[in-house]
Amino acid sequence: MTASKSPLVIGAGPAGLTAALRLLERDVAPRIVEATENVGGLARTPVDGSWRIDPGGHRFFTKSEEVADLWRSLLPADQWISVPRRSAMLVDGHYVRYPLRGRDLLWQRGLGKGLHGLGSLMWARLRTGPRIVNGAVSFRRWGTYEFGRHWYQTFFDGYVRKTWLTDPDDIASDWANQRIKPIDWRVRSDQELTTTDVFRYPKLGPGQLWEAAAEELRSRGIEPKLKARVVEAQYGASGWTVTLQNGETCLADGLFSSMPLHELIEALKPRPPEYIRAIAARLRHRGLITVAVALRERLDIPYHWVYTPNSAFRSGRIQNYSLWSPDLAPPAWPGSHLGFEYFVDGPTGTWGIDDEELVRIVRDDLRALGCGDSTVEHLMITRSQHAYPVHDSTRERNVQRIRNFLAARYPSLHPIGRNGMHHYDNQDHAMLSALKSVDRYFGADVDPWQANTDEGYHESGLVNG
Ligand SMILES: Cc1cc2nc3c(=O)[nH]c(=O)nc-3n(C[C@H](O)[C@H](O)[C@H](O)COP(=O)(O)OP(=O)(O)OC[C@H]3O[C@@H](n4cnc5c(N)ncnc54)[C@H](O)[C@@H]3O)c2cc1C
Repeated sequence: MTASKSPLVIGAGPAGLTAALRLLERDVAPRIVEATENVGGLARTPVDGSWRIDPGGHRFFTKSEEVADLWRSLLPADQWISVPRRSAMLVDGHYVRYPLRGRDLLWQRGLGKGLHGLGSLMWARLRTGPRIVNGAVSFRRWGTYEFGRHWYQTFFDGYVRKTWLTDPDDIASDWANQRIKPIDWRVRSDQELTTTDVFRYPKLGPGQLWEAAAEELRSRGIEPKLKARVVEAQYGASGWTVTLQNGETCLADGLFSSMPLHELIEALKPRPPEYIRAIAARLRHRGLITVAVALRERLDIPYHWVYTPNSAFRSGRIQNYSLWSPDLAPPAWPGSHLGFEYFVDGPTGTWGIDDEELVRIVRDDLRALGCGDSTVEHLMITRSQHAYPVHDSTRERNVQRIRNFLAARYPSLHPIGRNGMHHYDNQDHAMLSALKSVDRYFGADVDPWQANTDEGYHESGLVNG
């Protein structure tokens, strides 16, 4: 081990654990501090007895061989399952498959609505002319161009309002090309679809992978320090002095930070200039509350993810855990295991909603799903405060200014991951930003902020085991 180096990693989510593993690989022993009592961050698996849940529904896919190799090295092949992707939008009592298919759109809700949608799409394309510039327009404009007004309103407007809790005109569309697939007009059989769109999944949920990563670190002498929230990071001539909430301090020659970017700015000493603090304070997040319910009754929902864009549901999406992995429930559980996702705003807003109220809300949503009378066998509530870094129209410019400031003032500070960089990233991009940041720590001329710029990336890749 290189004793002259002493990096500290903030956060034991996918980005922080990846940075720690890569540092070890390069013969440097990192320390890693995590605010909560769990590893895995947003991709953890909360457990209650034999019940497990995936708070976000994590598909494992990547275009990066490096990331895929790391996943494979951490969990043996028999701990991965292959899951065909089946998602749908529940609209007017119809499960309309997602990604949207031309054939379903034309017929499933009646030919009249189908032709209306098609006419509206053609009109949007004729009126707008050549392809609009993604990212330069609001989500509403992007969606109306991509799907036509009718299908945009039917499938996306309500969902985006629920997720971001704001008007789609106030949301940038830079993430949409990566996250929302265009309509598939090809005629393909169901069989063809389920064999081409497959993702990998750890049997015990996404946290299984990150617990294995932490175990790997432990086996090599690195114990992630849990319940260790960083509250201050002081920079001086001799490097970093980081203070934890309990008053302990650690010295470091480099910091890898996956804590939310605006919280990092507030933790820095000496204090960054007022204008940087002001723009950092404008970086917003959406929280996520997942209410998992196990019902005695077996529901016939053949989809893993069901989006619920309309106002009949308070939840934005329902996960069908039974299809994700049977090991998320007790052995041979015969009923249904569902996760209702509620998107909430900051500490003073709906984030503070109490458990009793959540139970009432989920009961209403069960009724909307047509199973209000089912017996609830088990219920679990999971809260993720910084689930979604909001991409509003000022995000890119503000992040760029903060990033320039940090690079100029603190060359040994490396923001990594989804909230560390305030970018709506999946695990693979969070990991890539960590891998590149470690390379940068060793002097490589790489830009970790470029880890996620692939316009053609779609949530449908296949990660071979
Ligand atoms: C609803 C939902 C669905 C998703 N679906 C997918 C999917 O299908 N596929 C996919 O690949 N990805 C998915 N993701 C994204 C994935 O969860 C993230 O990309 C990934 O978890 C980001 O890793 P990270 O380490 O950057 O951040 P996080 O997971 O947020 O981890 C950061 C860690 O830092 C800790 N921390 C914060 N502040 C401090 C502090 N002050 N001191 C110490 N520690 C601190 C946190 O407690 C946390 O453990 C989804 C996310 C959500 C919310």
